[in-house]
Amino acid sequence: MSTETFEFQVEARQLLQLMIHSVYSNKDVFLRELVSNASDALDKLRLAKLRDDTLDADVSDLHIELEIDRDARTLTVRDNGIGMSYDEVGRLIGTIANSGTAQFLKELKEAQDAAGAEGLIGQFGVGFYSGFMVADEVTLVTRRAGERQGTRWSSRGEGTYTLERVDDAPQGTSVVLHLKPADPDNQLHDYTSVWKIKEIVKRYSDFITWPVRLVGEKDGKDDEGGAAGPETLNSMKALWARPRDEVSEDEYHELYKHIGHDWREPLETIQLHAEGTFEYQALLFVPSHAPHDLFRQNMRHGLQLYVKRVFIMDDCEALLPAYLRFVKGVVDAQDLSLNVSREILQQDRHIRMMQRRLTKKVLSSVKSMMTGAPEKYATFWREFGAVLKEGLVTDPDNRDALLAVASFASSREDGEAVTLKQYTERMPEGQDDIYYITGESREAIDNSPHMEAFRERGIEVLLLTDPVDEVWVDAVGEFEGKRLRSVAKGEIDLDAREDDKSEDEQKQQAESYAGLLGWMRERLDADVKEVRLSTRLTRSPACLVADADDLTPALENMYRAMGQ
Ligand code: ADP
Ligand code: MG
Repeated sequence: MSTETFEFQVEARQLLQLMIHSVYSNKDVFLRELVSNASDALDKLRLAKLRDDTLDADVSDLHIELEIDRDARTLTVRDNGIGMSYDEVGRLIGTIANSGTAQFLKELKEAQDAAGAEGLIGQFGVGFYSGFMVADEVTLVTRRAGERQGTRWSSRGEGTYTLERVDDAPQGTSVVLHLKPADPDNQLHDYTSVWKIKEIVKRYSDFITWPVRLVGEKDGKDDEGGAAGPETLNSMKALWARPRDEVSEDEYHELYKHIGHDWREPLETIQLHAEGTFEYQALLFVPSHAPHDLFRQNMRHGLQLYVKRVFIMDDCEALLPAYLRFVKGVVDAQDLSLNVSREILQQDRHIRMMQRRLTKKVLSSVKSMMTGAPEKYATFWREFGAVLKEGLVTDPDNRDALLAVASFASSREDGEAVTLKQYTERMPEGQDDIYYITGESREAIDNSPHMEAFRERGIEVLLLTDPVDEVWVDAVGEFEGKRLRSVAKGEIDLDAREDDKSEDEQKQQAESYAGLLGWMRERLDADVKEVRLSTRLTRSPACLVADADDLTPALENMYRAMGQ
C-alpha cells in the first residue's frame, strides 16, 4: 500500500522543534499525555456504543496497555478505544487545531528564557507532541471503531510525517515511541525501566478510570514470579467520590491537569457533595491563569459531566453560567440518564438546581479566598475579574455575591484595589455618590481632564478599564443606596461641597464668558449639544462630557460592533 508524505503545518513544526529541544525539563509528563489521550479515546468509545448499539466495536475489555521492549528501545502506549480514521489522523495529529497556538508561539518568541517558555507551554495542549521529548521517532497505528481499514502515521518530528493505510490494525490506537539513545549519566530518564514507568503512572495517572496495564517486560523481582497476567498500575479511584482528607493535594492537581489540559497547578480546588433527592458530586478547579480564548465566542467550558462514574460529555455549558466558563472540573450525577443530551440538559430542572448550587459554591470560595488568602484572591481577580463582572449584568440573583468579591483600581495614592464596601465606608461626610471613570487604559484615565477636579479635591474615583465595566455600572446603578456616577457624565456639582464661589461670582463669570460660549456653540454646532462653564476642570481649558443618560464613546463602539 502506498505511503504518502506530508509537511507539518508551520505552527506544528515550531511546536515540535520545542519538544525535540525540550525546553520543558520534566520529560516524564509525556507518558501522562499519552495515557490521557488513551483514556479520552476509551471514554469516547464507551459513549459511542451507548448511543449506538449497532456500532461494530468490542467494548468488553476497555483498557490501556504499556509495553516496554528494552532491546528495541521502544515504549508502546496502546488503547482499544475509539481510534481515528485516515482523515482524522491527518487533521488531529498533523496540525494544531488550537486557535491559541499562534498567540502562544508569538509569546514564546517574546519569552527570553527557558523558564518563561516552560511556563507558556503548559497553557497549550501540546499533548501528543510531547512524545518527541523522549523519542526520536514516533509511530502511531490506529483504526477507528466501526471501520475496517486502519492508518499508520510515522514521523521523526523533523518537518514531515507519513501516512499509510493498513489492513491488519486492531481497534483503537497504539503509539510506539522509539526512545532516544540511553544517557549513561542519567538513569532517571530511562523509560525502559519497569520501575520508572510504574512510578510515572502512579504519580500522574492513578485516577484514570480505565485500567493501565503493563505487559511484556517483567520486573524480575516480581513476588508472584512474574507469571501472573498483566499488572494493573493504577488504582482507578474516582477522586471526586473520595473524602477530601483521604486525597492528597498532588492527586487533585494531577486530575486537574488531565481534564484541564493544563500543565500548571490550579489556583483553587473546590469540592461539593450534594445529598438528598438529587445526588451529585462535584470537584471543581479554578486555574491559575486565564486561557487565551477567554473572550472568544465559543470558548469551551471546562466542566465534564459524568453519570454514576461514566463519562458523558466535555464542555458541559449547562452546569455553570457563562461568566464562570473558566472553571474546570468534574460533576458526577447519580440520577441522570446515560443518554442525556445537551438539549435536555439545558431544560432539566435538576440541572438548573445544580447550576445554582455550583455557582454559589464557586462564589463563596472566592469570598473565602478574599478574606483568608488575599494574594490568591489578587491573582484570581487579575486573571478572571473581567469575566466575573459579566455576571453583574447577566445574573441578577447573584449580583450581591458578585459585588461582594469584586475589587477595583482606585485613584487613591496607595494604589490598593478597593471593594465597593470599602469605598463607601471611607467616603467622607457629604459625599453621596460612588464616583468612577471608565476608559481604555490606566494611562488614558490618568490623563483624563475629567479627573482633575476630583484629584484636586481628594475625592476617590474607581478606575475602570475593562470593556464590560461600562455595561455593569449601568445595570447595577447603585450600591447600598449610593449611586454609581461617572465623572464623565452629566453635571457634577462638586462646588456644593466646596462652596468656594459665591452666587454673585458665578453670575459674573457666566456673563463675562457668554460671548465666548455663544461663539463656540455656533462653531461646534454639528458636533456637540451644548457648551457650558464647568467647575470640574483645574488645568485643562475644556473637556467633552456626555449627558447623564447618553452612551459613552466606548459603549457606542461596542454596540456599533454588535451591529446595533
Ligand atoms: P488534546 O488531547 O489536548 O486534544 P493531543 O495533542 O493530546 O491534544 O491530541 C490531539 C488529538 O488527537 C486528540 O484531541 C484526539 O482527537 C486525537 N488523539 C490523540 N491520541 C488519541 C488516541 N489514543 N485515540 C484517539 N484519538 C487520539
Ligand atoms: Mg491530549
